[in-house]
Amino acid sequence: MDDIRSTFHDLYGREPECSATAPGRVNLVGEHTDYNGGFVLPTVIPQRTTVELARRPDGLVCAWSANVAEAASQYHLGHEAREGRWIDYVQGVTSVLAAAGHALCGVDIRIDSSVPLGSGLSSSAALEIALLRALRSAFTLDIADVPLARLGQRAENEFVGAPCGVMDQMACSLAEDRVALFLDTRSLEFERVPLPAGTDLVVVNSGVSHHVAGADYATRRRECEEAARLLGVPQLRDLDVKDLDRLAGLPDTLRRRARHVILEDQRVVDAVAAMRAGDRRRLGDLFYASHASMRHDYEVSIPEIDLLVDLARKDPRVHGARLTGGGFGGSIVALAEEGTGREVGERVVREYGARTGRQATVLVPAPVDLDPDPRARAAPAREP
Ligand code: ADP
Ligand code: MG
Repeated sequence: MDDIRSTFHDLYGREPECSATAPGRVNLVGEHTDYNGGFVLPTVIPQRTTVELARRPDGLVCAWSANVAEAASQYHLGHEAREGRWIDYVQGVTSVLAAAGHALCGVDIRIDSSVPLGSGLSSSAALEIALLRALRSAFTLDIADVPLARLGQRAENEFVGAPCGVMDQMACSLAEDRVALFLDTRSLEFERVPLPAGTDLVVVNSGVSHHVAGADYATRRRECEEAARLLGVPQLRDLDVKDLDRLAGLPDTLRRRARHVILEDQRVVDAVAAMRAGDRRRLGDLFYASHASMRHDYEVSIPEIDLLVDLARKDPRVHGARLTGGGFGGSIVALAEEGTGREVGERVVREYGARTGRQATVLVPAPVDLDPDPRARAAPAREP
């Protein structure tokens, strides 16, 4: 195995030609709405994925990641084949670029990320977008940021086999710090909406990792498609709160899934209004309502996440908290009074540790030294 301390030069005996980064993301509200054609409201986190790269004269791709305990992987361009592990994200990107008519030659790649893997903060899209940006720059590809996000999603859907919507890649490609991306996932129209003044976002990673490619996510997707079919609409996006009565005829599970999606779309619209009005309490209430809906109607929360939300709620400095990301593990996002975020997060982590024996981590507000020298880093965990 290559050592964590490997630099690009250590790995490939030369310097990289270019490097690009992309951030992780945290979704504020609008969960499981993207594959239903609905609304989402993500923003970026300070943690980022960096891809360094240099072209090779042959058709070989060599890739190494500081975040997985493995030697470098290799494959030939044009011979991408799914292996069921992390290199599929790299193979997926080169394969969709070729399918879209972009000519590449071989490359050496070094990946390093401070976005935790499998924690609902979109390390997968951060990797896809950082790699696409690096390739765009190395091969002067003419791809704008929205099509770039689409390519990332295609890599994940068609190659990796994870049926994610487009939110993650759009957020990683287009969102900005402290500005949320109000995105219509059907038209891909978006507006940038600043977070309300006087607030801290707090992101706490439960330490329980999920797998978006897992069966539960795909099941939810199928349930939504089935509900839409029974209701006679192309997607659940085509219904709104005035249609809630129509859900009465659905089987119980589908009724609850559809109710979550319809109300969650409305919560995104309401959250944008609250942010524009600077109404922190209203925004916080929408966080709690979204969490309750994900817990009871959509059933994607787990006891550890519910505990984190409850611990945050006990703090009078917190306006709202909820599961963020696809669920079945991952992270919570809370809205706290400005200047209190780190303290709130650390208190939640302490009490969570005492109750569960698990080590949670506060990710935002960011630690002071976000991008430590990889040489100083602890050894990487095995890929979850
Ligand atoms: P999330 O996107 O919420 O972090 P996913 O299950 O969608 O979770 O994606 C996580 C997977 O993406 C990892 O298990 C790994 O295969 C791949 N991945 C993401 N970031 C990296 C990285 N820096 N190095 C190697 N693989 C990565
Ligand atoms: Mg992902």
